[in-house]
Amino acid sequence: MSKCKFCGKVFKTKKVEILCKDCRPIDEAVFSRIESYLHKFPHSNAMQIAEGCGVSVLEVLQYIDEGRLLLSKGEFKRL
Ligand SMILES: [Zn+2]
Repeated sequence: MSKCKFCGKVFKTKKVEILCKDCRPIDEAVFSRIESYLHKFPHSNAMQIAEGCGVSVLEVLQYIDEGRLLLSKGEFKRL
């Protein structure tokens, strides 16, 4: 069992997942927005990304904690 990080719904899963299938497309959309923002402004911090992408700082930090932003951008700083 996993708990969706977006809607908090508990769902059944065989492997470790952090999103239910309803929220996965939302996550993908948010992530690609952040990625293209970082492409334009590679030295942004989490606060600037959140502002530029219209998401919460917590969400941005979650992507960092998941290691996804670090993988896509070497220059990224947490704060
Ligand atoms: Zn969900």
